[in-house]
Amino acid sequence: MYIRKQRLLTPGPTPLYPPALHAMMASDIHHRTEDFRKVYRSCLADLKEVMGTAHDLLMFAASGTGAMDAAVSNLFSKGDKVVVCSAGKFGERWAEIAKAYGLDATVLTAPYGDVVTPQRVEAALAQEPATKGVFVQASETSTGAMHDVEAMGRAISKTGAIFVVDAITGFGTMPLDIDGWGLDVAIGGSQKAFMIPPGLAFMSVSPKAWKLAETATLPHYYFNLKKEKKSGDAGESSWTPATSLILALAEALRYVKQLGMPHLIVNAQMLAQATRAAVQALGLELFAPGSPGSSVTAVKAPAGMDSGVIVKEFRSRFGAIIANGQGTMKGQIFRVAHLGYFDFADLFGVVAELEIILNANGHPVQYGTGVAAVEEVYAHAAVEPQTKKA
Ligand SMILES: *Cc1c(COP(=O)(O)O)cnc(C)c1O
Repeated sequence: MYIRKQRLLTPGPTPLYPPALHAMMASDIHHRTEDFRKVYRSCLADLKEVMGTAHDLLMFAASGTGAMDAAVSNLFSKGDKVVVCSAGKFGERWAEIAKAYGLDATVLTAPYGDVVTPQRVEAALAQEPATKGVFVQASETSTGAMHDVEAMGRAISKTGAIFVVDAITGFGTMPLDIDGWGLDVAIGGSQKAFMIPPGLAFMSVSPKAWKLAETATLPHYYFNLKKEKKSGDAGESSWTPATSLILALAEALRYVKQLGMPHLIVNAQMLAQATRAAVQALGLELFAPGSPGSSVTAVKAPAGMDSGVIVKEFRSRFGAIIANGQGTMKGQIFRVAHLGYFDFADLFGVVAELEIILNANGHPVQYGTGVAAVEEVYAHAAVEPQTKKA
């Protein structure tokens, strides 16, 4: 009856940066030409710049999991002892990949919504000095929790193990000093804070990780780090690249550089802070109150309400796609994303819609309570400082 614009508001894929989308229309380009090499080289250089690393940077035509798979198959050998930090569905993915490749994994689990502490990683390394690698999510998207990768990196760098970080929703939502904190492998994905569609994965590789690659014996073919590095140095990818996505990426990276990575991070952090304030003002509970990250905020559905109802009503009433819980969290929580091309206007809408949905489903709230909380955060962060400056 009313117009409903479709809005993609999930923590991957995320809202697309329109100029990046338009850039994809120039995809009638061949990848073994100087025109394309120019774009590819600029993407690799800009990725290094926004990710803030001097390490080698590789790009793959794959979703983020492709790079996770590549990190294991290229850097390890069957039977290697590794430590996996698992605090959600993506931590479980590390454990599954390690198992698929026959690694000897010690899995440190934390209940959903909680995190694995750096102390537990340190203790596991002390117990098994032959550990070759430690795997973690910087931001565990399934629960909204954030790991302390700085402290973990400090502990791991003193050992022979490499630190492999799935930073797929960490980039653009939290500070990550790849080189300074000892993140030997840091993985990113195009459909998260990079504001373009799914299909590209990024990976930084430290000298310590390259050294491990020298002795690694697991089989691999399509994802070949050494070959990809050599190709990248020549301005090309090993195989036919996802040309259209790379054109989009070049445009999105131009925007991120102009904005500045620290501002992209603050943007996500402020939206996350405002979301937490809003849902708590509405009497809802956070799912990961201890270490809330800024990529996504997971919120418990009110007692007696399936979170699927909330997700469904966002779509049916407002055309908005938000995320349900994954796995056993399905039906328990819903997730509001903040990473990438999200702004306060999106959040005013999301929170107002949430208030309407709660009221329509037996959880009465005062209209405007949540929105007012978002307005307070915005006013405090953006309105007052500007007035002071003037
Ligand atoms: C999105 C995401 C991935 C990658 O998933 P794909 O479906 O392969 O892109 C991995 N880890 C985290 C934490 C993510 O949020």
